[in-house]
Amino acid sequence: MLQSFQPVLERIAEEMAGLAVRGRPADYIPALASADPRRFGMAVAELDGTVYGVGDWQHPFSTQSVTKVFTLALSLAREGDALWEHVGREPSGNPFNSLVQLEYENGIPRNPFINAGALVVTDRLHRLTGDASGCLLDFLRAESGNQDLGFDRDVAASETERGDRNAALGHFMASYGNIVNPVPTLLREYFRQCSIAASCADLALATGFLARHGIRADGSRLLTRSQAKQVNAVMLTCGTYDAAGDFAYRVGLPGKSGVGGGIIAVVPGRCTLCVWSPGLDERGNSVAGVAALDRFTTITGLSVF
Ligand code: GLU
Repeated sequence: MLQSFQPVLERIAEEMAGLAVRGRPADYIPALASADPRRFGMAVAELDGTVYGVGDWQHPFSTQSVTKVFTLALSLAREGDALWEHVGREPSGNPFNSLVQLEYENGIPRNPFINAGALVVTDRLHRLTGDASGCLLDFLRAESGNQDLGFDRDVAASETERGDRNAALGHFMASYGNIVNPVPTLLREYFRQCSIAASCADLALATGFLARHGIRADGSRLLTRSQAKQVNAVMLTCGTYDAAGDFAYRVGLPGKSGVGGGIIAVVPGRCTLCVWSPGLDERGNSVAGVAALDRFTTITGLSVF
């Protein structure tokens, strides 16, 4: 077993600096479009909270869909299996913001990581807590130990301005009775959630409960061992847009990506990772991020397979 992940991270960062194709940042809102695709950061957190990092690993970036993992865990912890009556757990085979499947599946989204599914999960969490985005932020602050984590108001405002499709998803599911809060309230909570800025170090630490089989940083239990397994399994099968098969093939770990260029990944019982580089491939996953995780599991042999 490796004594320290630092040499591996440095080797990967050096390899990634030479990557010829880096992809393009998401351009649907200005804050993401202006990100520099040459930026690269990567962090590994061990179960005890020891963190190793390289490059821009302490630089905050827009977490976007990476937060869907945490809202899922927070909802599942409160609602248990009843959550699965409102959202499925199968890959969708459709784009993350697609409407088509929802109609012939009666307003029940395929999984918690497409936008429709994440809206349902946020709706459930808001119903149970009255403050879904605040609950998420508190959790991320506690697990990362970084009290400075916060919402990026500009990103949240831009998301709202460009939010027609998410609004359509929300209203459509409300028509099937699968959304309980007023749709504008739900959208506010969802866009706040997407706007949270955090670094690779913060997110690697915040993901730790999934490597510790449900145990939080302070030793308390968030999820049962079985629920932690379930969240990891949904990440593996649905966590990286329409490329989850390719991600599993290349990386061999549960992972979740976001259009800000971040990806979190879990080695159950061993460590968690977060990598960030804003250039995306045509599926919406960070090019250097996937390549770096591929190299990590290849070099270390740490994967779930
Ligand atoms: N804010 C984005 C949306 O809902 C999240 C996109 C993503 O990271 O997948 O459209």
